[in-house]
Parts: sequence; C-alpha cells; structure tokens
Amino acid sequence: MTINVLFSASRRDWNVYETELLKAFAAQGLSVDLRPTPRSAPRDDTPTHAPREVDYLICTPDGAMADFSPFHRTKAVLSLWAGVENIAPNPTLTQPLVRMVDPSMTEGMVEWVTGHVLRHHLGTDRHVLDQSGAWRPEAPPLARERPVTILGIGALGQACAEALQGLNFPVTGWSRSQKTIPGIDCYDGAQGLSMALQSAEILVLLLPLTSATENIINARRLAEMPKGAVILNPGRGALIDDADLLSALDSGQISHATLDVFRIEPLPSDHRYWSHPQVTVTPHIASETRAPSASRMVAENIRRSENGEPLLNLVNRDAGY
Ligand code: NDP
Repeated sequence: MTINVLFSASRRDWNVYETELLKAFAAQGLSVDLRPTPRSAPRDDTPTHAPREVDYLICTPDGAMADFSPFHRTKAVLSLWAGVENIAPNPTLTQPLVRMVDPSMTEGMVEWVTGHVLRHHLGTDRHVLDQSGAWRPEAPPLARERPVTILGIGALGQACAEALQGLNFPVTGWSRSQKTIPGIDCYDGAQGLSMALQSAEILVLLLPLTSATENIINARRLAEMPKGAVILNPGRGALIDDADLLSALDSGQISHATLDVFRIEPLPSDHRYWSHPQVTVTPHIASETRAPSASRMVAENIRRSENGEPLLNLVNRDAGY
C-alpha cells in the first residue's frame, strides 16, 4: 500500500530533502508518494496532497502550517527541527508530534559547544585579539580545574556533557527527571538547579523553550553562579532574561556570554548584544538538521508507525518538548 507523505517547509528545504527522503523510504522498504505543499513546491504545477489524503506530515515548525484540523487521517506530524516550541502548543494539532533527533545535528552541537567552552577555558581571545607585543606568560588552568554545567541533558546536552567529560572537564548536568550518567553529577528540581549553578564556571544552556524554562536564567539564578562565569546559549533565546544578563555582564558577575539564539531572529542590528564587548553573537548556527541522517530518522519512524511500533522522540505535549 502506498503511504502519502506531505512535506511542508521552505522551497530550499524541499530541494535538499526530496532525494534524501526518497532514498531513506526505499531503504526502509516503504512505498511512499512524497509531495510538497504549494509553498514548498518548486513550480506552481507540482502535484501536492490534499490534507484529507495525508498519512504523515513532515514539517519545519516555523508557523507556516498553522491549522492541523483538516489532516483527519494523519498518523503523525514529524518535525525537522529539535525545538518544537512553535508547534507543540497548537490546539489544532491533535496528531502525535515527533521532534527531530538527528545524529549529525548532535555531532554539530558537540563541536560548537566544545569549541566555545575551550575558547573561554583557554582564554584564547586574550592572545588572538592582543598581538601588541606585550609578553604576558600566564598559562591557562587545566580542564580538570574548570567546572562546566549543562542545563538540559537530553539528546544534545548529554552528548556535549560526555564530550567535555572526555576532555577532563568536571561536568554537572540538570534535567527535569532524575538521571544517572557515569562521571556526570546530575541534578533535577529547583534545589538541584541552585546546586548545578553554584559550581558553573561555564554554563551551557541546552533546554527546550517551554513555559517552565522561559527566563530560567534571570537575576536570581545569575547571582548563584561563581563571579566571572561564562554563559553559552545554543538552546533558545527566551531561556535568558536579556535585561538581567546585560546587568550581570555590566557588573562583572558574568564575564562573557556567547549567544547563538535570540528572542527575535535575526537579532536586530541595534540590539545591545551586538555592541557589548563581553558578548559574542553567533547567528543560530550552533547546529542544524542534516538532510541525509534526518531523512533516515523520519523514514524509520514511519516504518515503526506502519508496523505498530512506538514512535521515537515523541513530544510530551503536557511538558511542551
Ligand atoms: P531533549 O528534549 O532531548 O532534551 C531536553 C533536556 O532539557 C532534557 O534533559 C530535559 O529533561 C530538560 N528539560 C526540559 N524541561 C525542563 C525543565 N522544566 N526543567 C529541567 N530540565 C528540563 O532536547 P535536545 O537535547 O534535542 O534539544 C534541546 C534544545 O536545543 C532544543 O529544544 C532546541 O531549542 C535547541 N537546539 C538548538 C539548535 C541550535 O542550532 N542553536 C539546534 C538544535 C536544537 P528530561 O531529560 O528529564 O526530559
């Protein structure tokens, strides 16, 4: 039986994903009729599926698909993004929602986080930016002397925690549910957050954005961190209260923030983050879904669903991620 799959993302995404998805469906032995929405289609006359014919909907949760109620027979909505804060609360979405866990995206995030942790740990900027001729022979401490805390130790956070631990950093993690990860100090709950922040000389935010995590890094929490701590945020912009972070940077409580994600993206060119000397802005490039591996994840989930097996990476709608 042919499975009807509708693809709702940008035209550029369709160009990148069409071949990879078809390859991945074939590898899973699935017979799929894959079609784009008119917005994703390369031409006006590209055939699409009517919502009532769609078995699975693949989408980027960028708000372009706002009403899921006509998708009566759709068995799952498969997000190409890890962050689903723009789609999970949609009241018309009654179908199971699957978020993206892509091994290549994880790989990219580990590289971004490790690179920026090492930059701050080694004080690389001091030498890269100062070639004035002043000889200041101060060796950096060892990684084993630099505690790093990661808030959110899910698919991405745990991989980063393990990579940093592999470099000898003492790593603390914090999550909603209690976790045991060999070699990582794991905390949960409100008190656990204070414990996790107390030692955080470098703090990495890899939480999803939900009603429980919005503004989680605020004046109170920033004050719990060691003076001069560094923050890396590749999670979501609204995890941080921006005004509180700017005050903490101005007072020296936080010595540097490297921010990849923002409440408004692109970050407006007059935003203080651009001009603040202790802030590094990267334009939401920490990592991204890669079409070949992401297509394999999508195809595997459709195969599982067709075989009556539980879907992988199902979003808990109550928790919002
Ligand atoms: P996961 O769902 O796998 O992990 C989320 C982690 O956050 C889990 O450990 C979870 O706890 C924890 N968490 C969630 N809510 C709370 C809470 N209220 N209190 C404490 N801990 C909480 O997500 P991923 O690791 O795949 O992705 C994390 C985020 O990274 C995404 O949501 C997205 O926003 C961002 N991202 C950014 C990218 C970029 O390029 N900048 C690229 C990809 C993702 P528990 O383990 O108990 O469930």
